[in-house]
Amino acid sequence: MEESRRTLVENFPNGSVALVGEDMLYRIVGGTLPEGVDVPVEEMRGRSVAEVLPGALAEQLLPAYEAAFGSAESSTFEIEDHGHTYRYHVLPVRGDQGEVFAGMAMSQDITELRERQRRLEEFNERLEQFAYAASHDLQEPLRMITTYLQLIEDRYGEHLDEEGREFFAYAVDGAKRMRNMVRSLLEYSRITSRGQPLEPTDAQAVLDDVLTDLHLRIEETGAEVTHGDLPRVHADPDQLAQVFRNLIGNALQYSGHEPPRVHVDASPRKDEWVFSVHDEGIGIAEEHTDRIFEVFRRLEPSSSGTGVGLAICDHIVGRHGGEMWVESEPGEGSTFFFTLPRALSAEPE
Ligand code: ADP
Repeated sequence: MEESRRTLVENFPNGSVALVGEDMLYRIVGGTLPEGVDVPVEEMRGRSVAEVLPGALAEQLLPAYEAAFGSAESSTFEIEDHGHTYRYHVLPVRGDQGEVFAGMAMSQDITELRERQRRLEEFNERLEQFAYAASHDLQEPLRMITTYLQLIEDRYGEHLDEEGREFFAYAVDGAKRMRNMVRSLLEYSRITSRGQPLEPTDAQAVLDDVLTDLHLRIEETGAEVTHGDLPRVHADPDQLAQVFRNLIGNALQYSGHEPPRVHVDASPRKDEWVFSVHDEGIGIAEEHTDRIFEVFRRLEPSSSGTGVGLAICDHIVGRHGGEMWVESEPGEGSTFFFTLPRALSAEPE
């Protein structure tokens, strides 16, 4: 038993694990100790937390151990010390009678992870800035093309023969499509920079507003849109509305010949909600289910869309810390899923 316990604590990966008694003395310690701890790991046993840990670490860890003994609370937090970032998880350990006999702390050095995350965020920001600058600056020459095409049509349109008019119509159509694509790209590039802070949000109220906005299209298509009870989530309400609008809009558009039937629902999973938008439309072949989330990716070149709607949804959900995917059976329908964090219980209504 002693040996297996030792193996367990000594091999604790990239961090340390410790058991502390109510007297705040170490009982067992193993793994790699944080920077700035001068006592070797084999000599920690019997020493006091306040004595061996650098000031900043002891200051945050002692109250966490006390909470473990006092109210049997566990806590998770991050501490920065000596240029490192550590993630701590402190929890009460109970004996046979249910009494708390030790506080246990597990720490992981997440410095490298945080650094990688920071670089990735920087890279994403640069990419967004690039997309923003490109789509913003493309608008001006595009406006020029559209204006002069209009002028040519007004002034010389009657001199064109039938073929000339056909060519001209293609040019106008191309310019219009490009304008819509550039606008969608601009919208995509502003998701992080123009996003509002995440707040407690009633997903049901957001969906109701979206359905009100879409009611003309719903009537026109003879669609039936139903939904389950939707929860409160931690989200940017405008962006959540945009996700619903795009997904329901697609469900109405890619419905095939039957009047569209759409069902929106949500179910809990750990500390998040899994939303689903289900349709009984044309469906998506398996080899395309990842690619449709890419910018400008469309499977139906004849459709009026720009192929950015799902990329926008995916980016919004990613900004919320969630993920998005689709399950589909061609000819039977599709279900788009996305996850959002639950509203924190401490958040005001
Ligand atoms: P678009 O503007 O073309 O609708 P999206 O990014 O919203 O762009 O969707 C990308 C492509 O994914 C669409 O062109 C369509 O081929 C496919 N798609 C999206 N939603 C559905 C759906 N509910 N059923 C079937 N195909 C879909």
